[in-house]
Amino acid sequence: MLSELLDRLRVIFCFCVTWSLIISLVWSAKNTLQEGMKRLKRLHQIPCSRCNYFTNDYRLKCTINPTTALLEDAIGCLDFEPGSFNMNGAKSCPKKSKVFLVIDRDI
Ligand code: SF4
Repeated sequence: MLSELLDRLRVIFCFCVTWSLIISLVWSAKNTLQEGMKRLKRLHQIPCSRCNYFTNDYRLKCTINPTTALLEDAIGCLDFEPGSFNMNGAKSCPKKSKVFLVIDRDI
């Protein structure tokens, strides 16, 4: 009688522990996802990639504020100058600067 009661208590205890672990796992995954989305939205507010002063070169990311470029500190930057995406870094890359000779036979 006592052993049956202990077995039932053990089953109930294991059931509760298992479900509490599953619920806490789902809860923590949901919180992590929400924090990640918040962080992603915040990072998308960094305006540097749309700024004219952004060089796209890791050695000097910005000619005006090189220490804050591409960081959260750049959100609300007063020097932001809207412009097209600047590819100066890619243009200066020696691997990408190829010269093509076009021969027009009709001339
Ligand atoms: S001027 Fe401001 S917004 Fe523009 S690239 Fe530099 S830090 Fe970013």
